[in-house]
Amino acid sequence: MKEVLSERVLSMATSATLAMAAKARELKAEGKDIIGLSLGEPDFNTPDFVKDAAKKAIDDNYNSYSPVDGYADLKQAIINKFKRDNNLTYTPNQIVVSTGAKQSLANVAMVVLDKGDEVILPAPYWVSYSEIVKIAEGTPVEVPTSIETNFKMTAEQLEAAITPNTKMLWFSSPCNPSGSVYTQEELESLAAVLRKYPDIYIVSDEIYEHINYGIGHTSIASIEGMYDRTITVNGVSKAFAMTGWRIGYIGAPEKIARACNKMQGQITSGANCIAQRATIAALDAPVSKIKYMIDEFHKRRDLVLELLGEIEGFQLNVPDGAFYVFPNISYFFGKTLRGKQIENAADFALYLLEEANVATVTGEAFGNDNCIRISYAASEKELREAIARIKAALA
Ligand code: PMP
Ligand code: GLU
Repeated sequence: MKEVLSERVLSMATSATLAMAAKARELKAEGKDIIGLSLGEPDFNTPDFVKDAAKKAIDDNYNSYSPVDGYADLKQAIINKFKRDNNLTYTPNQIVVSTGAKQSLANVAMVVLDKGDEVILPAPYWVSYSEIVKIAEGTPVEVPTSIETNFKMTAEQLEAAITPNTKMLWFSSPCNPSGSVYTQEELESLAAVLRKYPDIYIVSDEIYEHINYGIGHTSIASIEGMYDRTITVNGVSKAFAMTGWRIGYIGAPEKIARACNKMQGQITSGANCIAQRATIAALDAPVSKIKYMIDEFHKRRDLVLELLGEIEGFQLNVPDGAFYVFPNISYFFGKTLRGKQIENAADFALYLLEEANVATVTGEAFGNDNCIRISYAASEKELREAIARIKAALA
Protein backbone atom coordinates (compact mmCIF):
# COMPACT_ATOMS: atom_id res chain seq x y z
CA MET A 1 0.00 0.00 0.00
CA LYS A 2 1.08 3.54 -0.63
CA GLU A 3 2.39 5.47 2.40
CA VAL A 4 -0.28 7.85 3.62
CA LEU A 5 2.06 10.09 5.62
CA SER A 6 4.10 12.84 4.06
CA GLU A 7 7.85 12.73 3.74
CA ARG A 8 7.80 15.90 5.86
CA VAL A 9 6.38 14.26 8.95
CA LEU A 10 8.11 10.93 8.40
CA SER A 11 11.51 12.59 8.41
CA MET A 12 10.70 14.76 11.42
CA ALA A 13 11.87 13.90 14.95
CA THR A 14 9.33 13.84 17.77
CA SER A 15 9.91 16.60 20.35
CA ALA A 16 12.18 14.86 22.87
CA THR A 17 11.10 17.12 25.72
CA LEU A 18 7.42 16.44 25.14
CA ALA A 19 8.06 12.72 24.50
CA MET A 20 9.92 12.34 27.79
CA ALA A 21 7.20 14.25 29.63
CA ALA A 22 4.56 11.96 28.09
CA LYS A 23 6.56 8.87 29.06
CA ALA A 24 6.92 10.13 32.64
CA ARG A 25 3.16 10.80 32.81
CA GLU A 26 2.45 7.30 31.49
CA LEU A 27 4.71 5.65 34.09
CA LYS A 28 3.11 7.77 36.84
CA ALA A 29 -0.34 6.64 35.69
CA GLU A 30 0.89 3.04 36.05
CA GLY A 31 1.62 3.84 39.68
CA LYS A 32 5.39 4.41 39.40
CA ASP A 33 6.82 7.13 41.61
CA ILE A 34 8.45 9.19 38.86
CA ILE A 35 10.03 12.60 39.47
CA GLY A 36 9.74 14.57 36.24
CA LEU A 37 12.70 16.85 35.59
CA SER A 38 12.30 16.64 31.84
CA LEU A 39 9.93 19.46 31.02
CA GLY A 40 10.90 23.11 30.96
CA GLU A 41 7.86 24.31 32.80
CA PRO A 42 7.67 26.47 35.93
CA ASP A 43 6.01 24.62 38.80
CA PHE A 44 4.39 27.83 40.06
CA ASN A 45 0.79 28.83 39.56
CA THR A 46 0.06 31.71 37.21
CA PRO A 47 0.08 34.88 39.39
CA ASP A 48 -3.34 35.99 40.68
CA PHE A 49 -3.19 39.40 38.98
CA VAL A 50 -2.94 37.62 35.62
CA LYS A 51 -5.70 35.15 36.45
CA ASP A 52 -7.96 38.05 37.51
CA ALA A 53 -7.47 39.73 34.14
CA ALA A 54 -8.49 36.50 32.40
CA LYS A 55 -11.60 36.14 34.54
CA LYS A 56 -12.54 39.71 33.75
CA ALA A 57 -12.01 39.08 30.03
CA ILE A 58 -14.49 36.21 30.15
CA ASP A 59 -17.04 38.38 31.96
CA ASP A 60 -16.42 41.20 29.49
CA ASN A 61 -17.33 38.79 26.68
CA TYR A 62 -14.02 38.51 24.93
CA ASN A 63 -15.23 35.63 22.83
CA SER A 64 -14.79 36.59 19.21
CA TYR A 65 -11.91 36.20 16.80
CA SER A 66 -9.18 38.69 17.56
CA PRO A 67 -7.13 40.46 14.89
CA VAL A 68 -4.72 37.83 13.52
CA ASP A 69 -1.63 39.59 14.88
CA GLY A 70 -3.16 40.35 18.29
CA TYR A 71 -5.31 42.98 19.99
CA ALA A 72 -4.08 46.53 19.45
CA ASP A 73 -3.77 47.18 23.20
CA LEU A 74 -1.81 43.96 23.70
CA LYS A 75 0.53 45.01 20.90
CA GLN A 76 0.93 48.34 22.69
CA ALA A 77 1.77 46.51 25.95
CA ILE A 78 4.39 44.52 24.03
CA ILE A 79 5.82 47.71 22.52
CA ASN A 80 6.04 49.21 26.02
CA LYS A 81 7.70 46.07 27.34
CA PHE A 82 10.32 46.07 24.56
CA LYS A 83 11.06 49.73 25.32
CA ARG A 84 11.17 49.26 29.09
CA ASP A 85 13.20 46.04 29.27
CA ASN A 86 15.19 45.94 26.04
CA ASN A 87 15.56 49.52 24.84
CA LEU A 88 13.94 48.50 21.54
CA THR A 89 11.50 50.72 19.72
CA TYR A 90 8.83 49.02 17.64
CA THR A 91 5.65 50.17 15.92
CA PRO A 92 2.44 48.09 15.92
CA ASN A 93 3.13 46.77 12.41
CA GLN A 94 6.30 45.15 13.72
CA ILE A 95 4.57 43.06 16.40
CA VAL A 96 2.83 39.70 15.90
CA VAL A 97 1.21 37.76 18.75
CA SER A 98 1.04 34.00 18.30
CA THR A 99 -0.03 30.78 20.00
CA GLY A 100 3.19 30.42 21.95
CA ALA A 101 6.73 31.38 21.02
CA LYS A 102 6.87 28.01 19.29
CA GLN A 103 4.39 29.29 16.73
CA SER A 104 6.26 32.58 16.48
CA LEU A 105 9.38 30.60 15.54
CA ALA A 106 7.47 28.44 13.06
CA ASN A 107 5.98 31.54 11.40
CA VAL A 108 9.42 33.08 11.00
CA ALA A 109 10.88 29.91 9.52
CA MET A 110 8.01 29.58 7.08
CA VAL A 111 8.23 33.18 5.86
CA VAL A 112 12.01 33.58 5.69
CA LEU A 113 13.41 30.22 4.61
CA ASP A 114 13.47 28.59 1.21
CA LYS A 115 14.77 25.18 0.33
CA GLY A 116 18.46 24.89 1.08
CA ASP A 117 18.80 28.09 3.09
CA GLU A 118 21.21 27.47 5.91
CA VAL A 119 20.42 28.35 9.51
CA ILE A 120 23.29 28.47 11.98
CA LEU A 121 22.37 26.86 15.29
CA PRO A 122 24.95 27.13 18.07
CA ALA A 123 24.65 23.72 19.76
CA PRO A 124 23.26 22.88 22.22
CA TYR A 125 20.07 24.56 20.98
CA TRP A 126 16.43 24.17 21.92
CA VAL A 127 15.04 20.88 20.52
CA SER A 128 12.47 22.35 18.20
CA TYR A 129 14.78 24.73 16.31
CA SER A 130 16.25 22.10 14.02
CA GLU A 131 12.91 20.47 13.27
CA ILE A 132 11.12 23.78 12.63
CA VAL A 133 13.92 24.82 10.26
CA LYS A 134 13.63 21.49 8.43
CA ILE A 135 9.84 21.74 8.14
CA ALA A 136 10.46 25.02 6.31
CA GLU A 137 12.96 23.15 4.08
CA GLY A 138 15.91 25.00 5.57
CA THR A 139 19.16 23.28 6.46
CA PRO A 140 20.31 23.45 10.10
CA VAL A 141 24.05 24.02 10.45
CA GLU A 142 25.14 23.11 13.95
CA VAL A 143 28.06 24.89 15.57
CA PRO A 144 29.16 22.72 18.47
CA THR A 145 30.14 24.40 21.73
CA SER A 146 31.25 22.70 24.92
CA ILE A 147 31.21 23.11 28.64
CA GLU A 148 34.70 24.67 28.51
CA THR A 149 33.27 27.80 26.82
CA ASN A 150 30.08 27.72 28.91
CA PHE A 151 28.31 26.42 25.80
CA LYS A 152 28.62 29.77 24.02
CA MET A 153 29.56 30.26 20.38
CA THR A 154 32.54 32.51 19.73
CA ALA A 155 32.79 35.10 16.95
CA GLU A 156 35.42 32.92 15.23
CA GLN A 157 33.11 29.91 15.26
CA LEU A 158 30.27 31.99 13.83
CA GLU A 159 32.41 33.34 11.03
CA ALA A 160 33.72 29.87 10.15
CA ALA A 161 30.15 28.55 9.84
CA ILE A 162 28.99 31.24 7.41
CA THR A 163 28.64 30.22 3.75
CA PRO A 164 27.02 31.93 0.75
CA ASN A 165 23.85 29.98 1.66
CA THR A 166 23.62 31.23 5.24
CA LYS A 167 20.26 32.93 5.69
CA MET A 168 19.84 33.06 9.45
CA LEU A 169 21.32 32.57 12.90
CA TRP A 170 18.99 31.24 15.60
CA PHE A 171 19.91 31.24 19.26
CA SER A 172 18.44 31.64 22.72
CA SER A 173 19.91 33.64 25.59
CA PRO A 174 19.38 32.61 28.34
CA CYS A 175 19.81 29.31 26.54
CA ASN A 176 17.62 26.28 26.68
CA PRO A 177 19.18 23.75 27.42
CA SER A 178 22.49 25.08 28.78
CA GLY A 179 21.26 28.06 30.83
CA SER A 180 24.09 30.14 29.33
CA VAL A 181 23.61 33.88 28.99
CA TYR A 182 25.56 35.88 26.41
CA THR A 183 27.07 39.03 27.88
CA GLN A 184 26.75 42.32 26.03
CA GLU A 185 30.44 42.05 25.03
CA GLU A 186 29.94 38.57 23.62
CA LEU A 187 26.94 39.73 21.60
CA GLU A 188 28.97 42.73 20.38
CA SER A 189 31.62 40.35 19.07
CA LEU A 190 29.02 38.23 17.23
CA ALA A 191 27.48 41.43 15.85
CA ALA A 192 30.88 42.57 14.58
CA VAL A 193 30.99 39.43 12.41
CA LEU A 194 27.38 39.78 11.31
CA ARG A 195 27.89 43.40 10.20
CA LYS A 196 30.14 42.01 7.47
CA TYR A 197 27.28 39.85 6.15
CA PRO A 198 24.26 42.15 5.84
CA ASP A 199 22.00 39.46 4.35
CA ILE A 200 22.01 37.23 7.42
CA TYR A 201 18.94 37.52 9.66
CA ILE A 202 18.86 36.66 13.35
CA VAL A 203 16.29 34.96 15.53
CA SER A 204 16.98 36.03 19.10
CA ASP A 205 14.84 33.87 21.38
CA GLU A 206 14.58 35.72 24.68
CA ILE A 207 11.82 33.73 26.33
CA TYR A 208 13.98 33.19 29.47
CA GLU A 209 14.96 36.87 29.63
CA HIS A 210 13.73 37.43 33.18
CA ILE A 211 15.10 34.15 34.52
CA ASN A 212 18.58 35.55 34.83
CA TYR A 213 20.82 35.34 37.90
CA GLY A 214 22.87 38.46 37.51
CA ILE A 215 24.70 38.72 34.18
CA GLY A 216 22.09 41.14 32.83
CA HIS A 217 20.06 40.66 29.70
CA THR A 218 21.03 42.18 26.37
CA SER A 219 18.90 41.97 23.23
CA ILE A 220 21.09 41.59 20.17
CA ALA A 221 18.65 43.84 18.28
CA SER A 222 19.84 46.72 20.48
CA ILE A 223 23.41 46.42 19.14
CA GLU A 224 24.50 48.60 16.24
CA GLY A 225 23.44 47.33 12.85
CA MET A 226 21.34 44.43 14.19
CA TYR A 227 17.88 45.95 14.64
CA ASP A 228 16.88 45.83 10.97
CA ARG A 229 17.61 42.13 10.71
CA THR A 230 16.69 40.69 14.05
CA ILE A 231 13.47 38.95 14.95
CA THR A 232 13.21 39.18 18.73
CA VAL A 233 11.08 36.32 20.06
CA ASN A 234 9.56 36.32 23.52
CA GLY A 235 6.51 35.05 25.39
CA VAL A 236 4.86 34.68 28.76
CA SER A 237 5.22 30.90 29.27
CA LYS A 238 8.33 30.94 31.41
CA ALA A 239 8.53 34.21 33.35
CA PHE A 240 4.83 34.30 34.22
CA ALA A 241 4.26 30.55 34.67
CA MET A 242 1.80 30.58 31.77
CA THR A 243 2.94 27.63 29.64
CA GLY A 244 -0.59 26.39 28.97
CA TRP A 245 -1.97 29.81 28.08
CA ARG A 246 -0.02 29.73 24.83
CA ILE A 247 1.04 33.30 24.09
CA GLY A 248 4.27 34.24 22.34
CA TYR A 249 5.21 37.26 20.26
CA ILE A 250 7.82 38.82 18.01
CA GLY A 251 9.23 42.26 17.36
CA ALA A 252 10.62 42.24 13.83
CA PRO A 253 11.32 44.23 10.69
CA GLU A 254 7.92 45.24 9.35
CA LYS A 255 8.22 43.17 6.18
CA ILE A 256 8.78 40.00 8.20
CA ALA A 257 6.04 40.82 10.71
CA ARG A 258 3.53 41.38 7.91
CA ALA A 259 4.51 38.07 6.33
CA CYS A 260 4.07 36.27 9.66
CA ASN A 261 0.64 37.85 9.98
CA LYS A 262 -0.26 36.54 6.51
CA MET A 263 1.07 33.05 7.31
CA GLN A 264 -0.73 32.87 10.66
CA GLY A 265 -3.92 34.11 9.03
CA GLN A 266 -4.04 30.96 6.93
CA ILE A 267 -2.98 28.54 9.62
CA THR A 268 -4.38 29.47 13.06
CA SER A 269 -5.74 33.07 13.11
CA GLY A 270 -5.36 35.21 16.23
CA ALA A 271 -4.21 33.60 19.49
CA ASN A 272 -6.69 32.74 22.26
CA CYS A 273 -8.55 35.93 23.19
CA ILE A 274 -8.73 35.36 26.97
CA ALA A 275 -5.01 34.57 27.12
CA GLN A 276 -4.26 37.73 25.14
CA ARG A 277 -6.17 39.87 27.66
CA ALA A 278 -4.33 38.17 30.53
CA THR A 279 -1.00 38.81 28.80
CA ILE A 280 -1.65 42.57 28.90
CA ALA A 281 -1.81 42.34 32.69
CA ALA A 282 1.37 40.24 32.77
CA LEU A 283 3.41 42.56 30.56
CA ASP A 284 2.16 45.78 32.15
CA ALA A 285 3.23 44.61 35.61
CA PRO A 286 6.61 45.67 36.98
CA VAL A 287 9.15 42.85 36.82
CA SER A 288 9.35 43.00 40.64
CA LYS A 289 5.98 41.20 40.71
CA ILE A 290 7.54 37.97 39.45
CA LYS A 291 10.80 38.25 41.36
CA TYR A 292 9.72 35.67 43.94
CA MET A 293 9.81 33.00 41.21
CA ILE A 294 13.21 34.08 39.89
CA ASP A 295 14.65 34.11 43.43
CA GLU A 296 13.34 30.61 43.99
CA PHE A 297 14.86 29.34 40.72
CA HIS A 298 18.14 30.92 41.73
CA LYS A 299 18.14 29.09 45.08
CA ARG A 300 17.31 25.83 43.34
CA ARG A 301 20.08 26.30 40.80
CA ASP A 302 22.60 26.61 43.61
CA LEU A 303 21.15 23.59 45.38
CA VAL A 304 21.18 21.43 42.25
CA LEU A 305 24.76 22.41 41.40
CA GLU A 306 25.87 21.58 44.94
CA LEU A 307 24.10 18.20 45.06
CA LEU A 308 25.00 17.09 41.53
CA GLY A 309 28.56 18.24 42.15
CA GLU A 310 28.84 15.49 44.76
CA ILE A 311 28.23 12.78 42.14
CA GLU A 312 31.32 11.41 40.47
CA GLY A 313 31.12 11.71 36.69
CA PHE A 314 28.91 14.80 36.49
CA GLN A 315 30.83 17.65 34.88
CA LEU A 316 28.99 20.91 35.50
CA ASN A 317 29.28 24.58 34.64
CA VAL A 318 27.38 27.38 36.34
CA PRO A 319 24.42 28.43 34.22
CA ASP A 320 23.49 32.11 34.53
CA GLY A 321 19.85 31.81 33.55
CA ALA A 322 16.81 29.69 32.61
CA PHE A 323 16.06 26.66 34.83
CA TYR A 324 18.22 23.93 33.42
CA VAL A 325 21.55 22.33 34.11
CA PHE A 326 23.25 20.51 31.27
CA PRO A 327 25.90 18.25 32.80
CA ASN A 328 28.40 16.42 30.65
CA ILE A 329 27.99 12.77 31.66
CA SER A 330 30.28 11.19 29.05
CA TYR A 331 32.29 9.72 31.99
CA PHE A 332 29.69 6.94 32.08
CA PHE A 333 29.98 5.97 28.41
CA GLY A 334 31.35 2.47 27.92
CA LYS A 335 30.44 1.52 31.49
CA THR A 336 27.96 -1.16 32.56
CA LEU A 337 25.63 -0.15 35.39
CA ARG A 338 23.38 -2.75 37.00
CA GLY A 339 23.86 -4.91 33.92
CA LYS A 340 22.94 -2.08 31.54
CA GLN A 341 25.42 -0.88 28.98
CA ILE A 342 25.69 2.95 28.73
CA GLU A 343 26.92 4.03 25.31
CA ASN A 344 25.44 7.50 24.96
CA ALA A 345 23.35 10.19 26.61
CA ALA A 346 20.08 8.53 25.54
CA ASP A 347 21.11 5.30 27.31
CA PHE A 348 22.04 7.34 30.37
CA ALA A 349 18.72 9.22 30.48
CA LEU A 350 16.85 5.93 30.04
CA TYR A 351 18.92 4.39 32.84
CA LEU A 352 17.98 7.27 35.17
CA LEU A 353 14.34 6.84 34.26
CA GLU A 354 14.32 3.09 34.84
CA GLU A 355 16.70 2.81 37.80
CA ALA A 356 16.17 6.12 39.62
CA ASN A 357 12.63 6.89 38.44
CA VAL A 358 13.83 10.35 37.42
CA ALA A 359 12.92 11.77 34.01
CA THR A 360 15.55 13.93 32.27
CA VAL A 361 16.20 14.55 28.56
CA THR A 362 19.09 13.29 26.46
CA GLY A 363 21.36 16.05 25.20
CA GLU A 364 21.33 14.48 21.77
CA ALA A 365 17.94 16.11 21.12
CA PHE A 366 19.63 19.48 21.71
CA GLY A 367 22.58 18.74 19.47
CA ASN A 368 25.04 17.60 22.17
CA ASP A 369 25.23 13.89 22.91
CA ASN A 370 27.66 14.11 25.82
CA CYS A 371 25.12 15.76 28.10
CA ILE A 372 21.69 15.41 29.61
CA ARG A 373 19.31 18.20 30.48
CA ILE A 374 17.86 18.43 33.97
CA SER A 375 15.12 20.96 34.62
CA TYR A 376 15.11 22.36 38.14
CA ALA A 377 11.65 23.86 37.78
CA ALA A 378 10.54 21.50 40.55
CA SER A 379 10.20 21.83 44.33
CA GLU A 380 13.27 21.68 46.55
CA LYS A 381 11.92 18.47 48.08
CA GLU A 382 11.57 16.83 44.67
CA LEU A 383 15.00 18.03 43.59
CA ARG A 384 16.66 16.65 46.75
CA GLU A 385 14.88 13.33 46.36
CA ALA A 386 15.60 13.08 42.62
CA ILE A 387 19.31 13.75 43.03
CA ALA A 388 19.57 11.33 45.97
CA ARG A 389 18.02 8.67 43.75
CA ILE A 390 20.35 9.48 40.87
CA LYS A 391 23.32 9.23 43.23
CA ALA A 392 22.13 5.86 44.55
CA ALA A 393 21.50 4.50 41.06
CA LEU A 394 25.05 5.44 40.00
CA ALA A 395 26.81 4.27 43.17
N1 PMP B 1 11.96 28.90 22.97
C1 PMP B 1 12.59 28.24 23.95
C2 PMP B 1 14.05 28.41 24.11
C3 PMP B 1 11.88 27.40 24.82
O1 PMP B 1 12.50 26.74 25.80
C4 PMP B 1 10.50 27.25 24.64
C5 PMP B 1 9.82 26.29 25.57
N2 PMP B 1 8.60 26.06 25.54
C6 PMP B 1 9.88 27.96 23.59
C7 PMP B 1 10.65 28.77 22.79
C8 PMP B 1 8.43 27.88 23.29
O2 PMP B 1 7.66 28.43 24.30
P1 PMP B 1 6.10 28.64 24.17
O3 PMP B 1 5.64 28.04 22.89
O4 PMP B 1 5.52 27.96 25.37
O5 PMP B 1 5.87 30.10 24.23
N1 GLU C 1 10.36 24.44 26.08
C1 GLU C 1 10.10 23.50 27.14
C2 GLU C 1 11.19 22.49 27.18
O1 GLU C 1 12.17 22.63 26.52
C3 GLU C 1 8.71 22.92 27.01
C4 GLU C 1 8.53 21.73 26.13
C5 GLU C 1 8.56 22.07 24.68
O2 GLU C 1 7.76 22.88 24.23
O3 GLU C 1 9.40 21.47 24.02
O4 GLU C 1 11.10 21.53 27.91
